[in-house]
Order: sequence, then structure tokens, then C-alpha cells
Amino acid sequence: MRPGRQTYCGTNTNDFGVIFMADNHSKEIRSMNMSHIRSKNSKPEELVRKYLFSKGFRYRKNVKDLPGKPDIVLPKYKTVIFVNGCFWHRHDCPRFVWPSSNQEYWIPKIQKNAERDKANIQQLQNLGWHVVTIWECQLKPKNINDTFQETLKDIVKGSTLH
Ligand SMILES: [Zn+2]
Repeated sequence: MRPGRQTYCGTNTNDFGVIFMADNHSKEIRSMNMSHIRSKNSKPEELVRKYLFSKGFRYRKNVKDLPGKPDIVLPKYKTVIFVNGCFWHRHDCPRFVWPSSNQEYWIPKIQKNAERDKANIQQLQNLGWHVVTIWECQLKPKNINDTFQETLKDIVKGSTLH
């Protein structure tokens, strides 16, 4: 039995009606997916990737076989870049504030993140990688240009270390 059978009166128009409804539905899903993709692309690491790409750098992203799964890996420059949220990675900046509630949960969790970051950086350096960390607060509109300039310098420095 076809959907919408009850209101189906046997004309071609109604056939089209059913098709039209189905198409509308898929359009809705498509637009949901699009907004999801948009929000994903505006993430801080995506800002850095777009900038580097515009400057001609080619990179791999979220490289699972390296410690800490770096957000951006530039093999040619032997450089990895982490783009870190100030809260999750305990940045020493005004953006980081210990949560006032549920501290017994948050303090060990965030301490562990920071310790893990430190260990990953050490391991990467042992493997010969130059490690650059970019913090979320450094990507605020008033800081972003300076941050990008510094990052370019850091990348070039990475390539001269070897
Ligand atoms: Zn910060």
C-alpha cells in the first residue's frame, strides 16, 4: 500500500503530491546536514586549517597514528599543530576558570587532560616533531592576525630544526 492512500483520489496530481512531500522531507534533512557542516567548519582548528591552506601549506588532519592525534600535521615542515580549547586544556589565561560546581569531577578531569597534553608533546618531540600549540583565545578576532603570523614563523622554525 502506498503512503497517503487514504487521501489518494486516483489522479496524477495526487501522485505528484506524494512525490513532492517526500522531496520536501529530504530537503529538510539536507538543510539540517548543511547547518551541521557549517558549525563544524567554524571550529577553531578549521580557522587555522583554512588560513594555512590559503598560504599554500598542505597538511594532514587528526592524524591518529601520532601521540595526541594532532589537529594539523605538516610533514614537509616536520611540524604538528594542536588547536586547544582554553577550558579543556587548562590554558593559563582569563578564559580558563575552574567550574564552581561539581569540582570533584572537573578538577581531576581537566588536570588529566593537561598532563596528557604534556606527555603527548614530549613524545612527539622525542619522535623529532616540532610541536606548536594554538589556543582558542589566540584566535579571537583581535588576536588572530598576530597568532597566524607567529604560527607561520613557528612552522618555518620547525623545518630548520632538522
Ligand atoms: Zn586561552
